[in-house]
Amino acid sequence: MKKILSLAVVLSLIISVPQRSFAWGKIGHGIVAEIAFHFLDSSTKDAVHKYLGSTTIEEASTWMDDMRSDHSYDYMKSWHYVNIEKGQAYTETKDGNVINALNKAITELEHRDNMSKDDIKKDLMIIFHLTGDLHMPLHVGYEEDKGGNDIHVKYLGKPTNLHRVWDTEIIESEKITPNDCLAQLKNFNKSEIDGLKKIDVENWTHEPRSLLTNVYAFKDDTIDQAYIDKNKKVVEMQLLIAGIRLSSVLEQIFKS
Ligand SMILES: [Zn+2]
Repeated sequence: MKKILSLAVVLSLIISVPQRSFAWGKIGHGIVAEIAFHFLDSSTKDAVHKYLGSTTIEEASTWMDDMRSDHSYDYMKSWHYVNIEKGQAYTETKDGNVINALNKAITELEHRDNMSKDDIKKDLMIIFHLTGDLHMPLHVGYEEDKGGNDIHVKYLGKPTNLHRVWDTEIIESEKITPNDCLAQLKNFNKSEIDGLKKIDVENWTHEPRSLLTNVYAFKDDTIDQAYIDKNKKVVEMQLLIAGIRLSSVLEQIFKS
């Protein structure tokens, strides 16, 4: 009985400790990887597959979330996001945040001559994941509510939190697919797409950051269909932009 009780206590502790969830969810990250591959030439795709081995691009894109129960990777926990105070701009720091982690992995892979195959694979998986995360507005959000994780809302009547609305609920309930996101290409002309492809990680945070006003525009803790209708396109655009930029980073790394 004592054993059962203590197990129950442990379980309840695990369940009640507020976990910061790591966006996007599995589907969102998979979509970003697929969109990136849509834009890649075959030699870059071959190079990525060579290092990923039997790991699929979808698995690569969620590795940083899948291994978070392994405490030897705890040092990566803060890499998924950056907190910037309301009304403030990002100021450069050496903290382990999404901007620094992504820049570090990109720079390492650009100079990978002395890296082991395993380390190259790890950096690739970091880039697949964090390029996605950085484009989710609540990953460039506010410390005070843990990127929306502390904002309890009802999503079409179901209790959840604002972070989850953006990384999972809208994508799942609206059944967003890679093709839905690619359809948003119509909003960009060629030179705008070239502009999106310019690799400037810190700069990339500006646009998801500018979407936060939209993200918090709901009343009475309620996410209704009107909010979803309005923001579905925003989610599709962010997944598209993340995919375009991931393809650009991979091309840059393997161009030689
Ligand atoms: Zn993440």
